[in-house]
Amino acid sequence: MQAFQYQDRELFVEDVPLAQIADTFGTPCYVYAESALTQAYSAYSNAFAGIDHLVCYALKANSNLAVIRHFASLGSGFDTVSIGEIRRVLAAGGEAGKIVFSGVGKSADEMRQALEIGIHCFNVESVNELERLNRVAGEAGKRAPISLRVNPNVDARTHPYISTGLKNNKFGIAYEQALDTYRRAAALPNLNVIGIDCHIGSQLTDATPLIDALDRLLVLVDQLGEAGIRLKHVDIGGGLGIRYDHETPPDVAAYAAAIKQRLAGRGLSLLLEPGRSLVGNAGVLLTRIEYLKQGDGKHFAIVDAAMNDLMRPSYYQAYHQIRPVTRRDDAVATYDVVGPVCESSDFLGKDRELAVQEGDLLAVMSAGAYGATMSSNYNTRPRGAELLVSGDSVRLVRARETFEQLIANEIGLLDGND
Ligand SMILES: *Cc1c(COP(=O)(O)O)cnc(C)c1O
Repeated sequence: MQAFQYQDRELFVEDVPLAQIADTFGTPCYVYAESALTQAYSAYSNAFAGIDHLVCYALKANSNLAVIRHFASLGSGFDTVSIGEIRRVLAAGGEAGKIVFSGVGKSADEMRQALEIGIHCFNVESVNELERLNRVAGEAGKRAPISLRVNPNVDARTHPYISTGLKNNKFGIAYEQALDTYRRAAALPNLNVIGIDCHIGSQLTDATPLIDALDRLLVLVDQLGEAGIRLKHVDIGGGLGIRYDHETPPDVAAYAAAIKQRLAGRGLSLLLEPGRSLVGNAGVLLTRIEYLKQGDGKHFAIVDAAMNDLMRPSYYQAYHQIRPVTRRDDAVATYDVVGPVCESSDFLGKDRELAVQEGDLLAVMSAGAYGATMSSNYNTRPRGAELLVSGDSVRLVRARETFEQLIANEIGLLDGND
């Protein structure tokens, strides 16, 4: 996380001390480094230069409008999973023609709106969804551009909650049914079959399953060609992992080289849907220690951020490094870093060696992906602020929620509607 470095004893984001941000905007808050967003995007665009490709940032990883706008300014497309996400892209100034719409449960209303907006492609996940989209497009007098999400049945070897490419999974169309489903799609009058896609899982630390999945898709592309169904693009999804601790995630350049080699001479354009690898190491969650507590054989650092702010540790047993914002020379002790929420699973890190005192700030690292977007108001905790830093400039890009906002949809209904 090069954008987050110590200078002397102080942890900085780009040219700004994190302590200064905490003093100005309060804690907990998410802090993003714009240079890290740019760097991660450039790694993809440089690696895939020379072939016809579109990076579609999967914005469920971090859908802050300022983050979307930044990627849009770099030329990015977007992978979305709800009409809400599509509307975010438009609100941030992204192009409709660069949006792909994924997800197993698209409603007819979402389809109508996406057709109206004129998105690039619907990534369809079942036969029944094809039939519904054909009907909705017909009613709207449009032809829906589609790709089928095929389940290549490869093991992503990642956490089961974030593995999506095995056949017992709810996502995609079974590999064995793909040809028949394409024939069905090609016969429906209001659909325009343009692509094939897959997404096998997240936080992959080995690219082999991703390349295997592409090979499986290309076998289908050839079979479809023989059946007279010619595709324009192949979309290989997202899933490249990042370094949270000691992982060695695949190098984007090596990944790109393997893909380019396979696509050479095929006349197919490439779509990619990276999420985590574009934003994960561009953000930290900043939190302050409220109390140090000496349990029976355990030390706790009780901080003002909790599982509602960052769900990954309690939900996936995910590991995030936790660093002091100001380094001390005091003796180190081993702490569980926990939040104020009334659940035993409310922790941000376990058994961490830290030299800290009450009131100190901690940075929970690698929190740019699936952090703010998965946050909730559990325990009536307002979501924290989000800041985007570029050089020495700090921009508030989401204000901390207020109590009044949390109760707004209830207060007028308190004494009934009649
Ligand atoms: C979540 C998701 C992605 C992004 O995955 P990452 O692991 O964050 O890169 C891409 N495509 C689809 C369909 C997804 O659901």
